[in-house]
Amino acid sequence: MPATHDVFNQPEPLADVNLFAGNRPLQAALTFNAPGLDTAPLLALGATVGSADMRRHARLANVHTPQLKTHSRFGHRIDQVEFHPSYHALMAQAVGAGLHGTAFSAQQQVTGHAHQLRAAGFMLFTELEPSILCPISMSYAVTPALRDNTAIYQDWAPGLTSRQYDPELKVWREKTGLTMGMGMTEKQGGSDVRANTTRAVADGTDAWGQRFSVTGHKWFFSAPMCDAFLILAQTASGLSCLFLPRVLPDGSPNQLFIQRLKDKLGNKANASSEVEFVDATAWLVGEEGRGVPQILAMGTMTRLDCALGTSGLMRQALSLALNHTTQRMAFGKRLIEQPLMKNVLADLALESEAATALALRLARSFDRAGDAHEQVMTRLLTPVAKFWICKRGSHFAQEAMECLGGNGYVEEGGEGVMARIYREMPLNSIWEGAGNIMALDLLRALRKADAAAALAQELAPARGMHRALDHLAERLPARVEEMATEMEARRLAQDVALAVQAALLAQTAPAAVFSAFCDSRLGGEWGHSFGSLGAGVDFDAILERAMPHPSTSAR
Ligand SMILES: Cc1cc2nc3c(=O)[nH]c(=O)nc-3n(C[C@H](O)[C@H](O)[C@H](O)COP(=O)(O)OP(=O)(O)OC[C@H]3O[C@@H](n4cnc5c(N)ncnc54)[C@H](O)[C@@H]3O)c2cc1C
Repeated sequence: MPATHDVFNQPEPLADVNLFAGNRPLQAALTFNAPGLDTAPLLALGATVGSADMRRHARLANVHTPQLKTHSRFGHRIDQVEFHPSYHALMAQAVGAGLHGTAFSAQQQVTGHAHQLRAAGFMLFTELEPSILCPISMSYAVTPALRDNTAIYQDWAPGLTSRQYDPELKVWREKTGLTMGMGMTEKQGGSDVRANTTRAVADGTDAWGQRFSVTGHKWFFSAPMCDAFLILAQTASGLSCLFLPRVLPDGSPNQLFIQRLKDKLGNKANASSEVEFVDATAWLVGEEGRGVPQILAMGTMTRLDCALGTSGLMRQALSLALNHTTQRMAFGKRLIEQPLMKNVLADLALESEAATALALRLARSFDRAGDAHEQVMTRLLTPVAKFWICKRGSHFAQEAMECLGGNGYVEEGGEGVMARIYREMPLNSIWEGAGNIMALDLLRALRKADAAAALAQELAPARGMHRALDHLAERLPARVEEMATEMEARRLAQDVALAVQAALLAQTAPAAVFSAFCDSRLGGEWGHSFGSLGAGVDFDAILERAMPHPSTSAR
């Protein structure tokens, strides 16, 4: 067809960039929380996940979605999920970077920063492809819970910490790497797991301890090709945590049957399934009848990942918006030079940096698990960060998408990364405890006698730096001590999140970022949508800080 027009004013995509080198908020958060951390692995990972080659894998894994194969050609039940080669390429990269269980290896633990290194890597990888991080996250999170069955943990730890990705469904001892998932949610309830109906009948004892025969179902069972799962089932003593491998120690398949794969809004590259167990074999982990606290040792770490993952997605959406608006012209100027667009972008940049700071701060507490203050921070900030960061995600993604105009809304065979981010965002808020459940969990956390004092200690370094923060920080410990009612739980979670974010920005961010964050989020100089920062904000300084290319300018 003859050309009718020149194509112009369409920005170059953000490709082949080092996602770590260009992320100053993440670097600052690491310098603050993990001084002395060797960031060379992050620089290498930043180049890999920012490469056009890996982006192609991310697109293909989302376009060619997983397929369930219940039976073989000859009618045998196989219960396997088939993935596109790009899914495996992404998994191999994530495992190779040690984003699953490697942080728990003795070699990583001696660094003192293993969880933060892994947290930063997880955030960077999210900018490449978030859905494969579901099995990666669960394989990371499982260790604190699984360790309570020493025999199983000894057998499985080498595979869970290995940097080899091995997708074959075969007995654990023949594999170079292992992955794990979790099964709690049933049809009748996911938040109230005590209503689980799956039954487990005692079936003797062997080298892995007390064995059970499990019958029932799970309604959401993500990454069913994992090698094993922690599940909840009712034994004679009540709800208990069980280890259920897909392949039994003698090499035979366990009695786990995949009914179908979920047709999801986003998270397309990852398979989420519905499964049934028919006399499946499983082993007890932890104390019988204490399944909920046992599996929540895993849930706590996946909640950390929800906060990290959403922060990574925010950063990616912001980078795409900045990349677009620095190139696209409208009404005689680059979009980023238009005052109102500056306001939108700067507001998003504040939100993104605050999310990064809070998520990394939470990750620090896992590196210092022996410290009493950090233990309270883990308990307090896990529901707070999961609630607030994930709650902000969808609104953030919509606004960042709008910066790209109509092109932001277009999928174009998976090229439309903004659309993928938008579809992914609500997920971190729902799974592993939806918003209300997180806010209610904060109330439980506050029952710890030292929560108010620990919060005051956390906010103390920022005292005197901003009037609105001082005002909030003075009132917050008393509100914490009084213990809010359920009706007030979301408001309290929000205020704790904002206060901690502001105190962190006081210590890690330029003055322009800190003061604009406090003025808007704490001081009331803000509307109900992004892009409503007040006068006196140093927009250019905030935008310079956020640029994905250090060489690009907002001016
Ligand atoms: C893509 C995807 C993958 C998933 N993968 C897994 C998986 O691998 N393993 C797994 O176990 N689960 C998985 N889940 C399930 C997920 O964890 C649950 O959906 C979630 O915990 C909510 O449970 P529910 O869907 O039963 O909703 P419900 O428990 O019915 O909750 C519905 C709403 O009610 C609110 N609510 C509940 N109780 C209260 C209360 N007391 N007060 C106020 N509000 C309340 C909740 O916050 C929520 O907003 C997955 C979910 C999704 C979407």
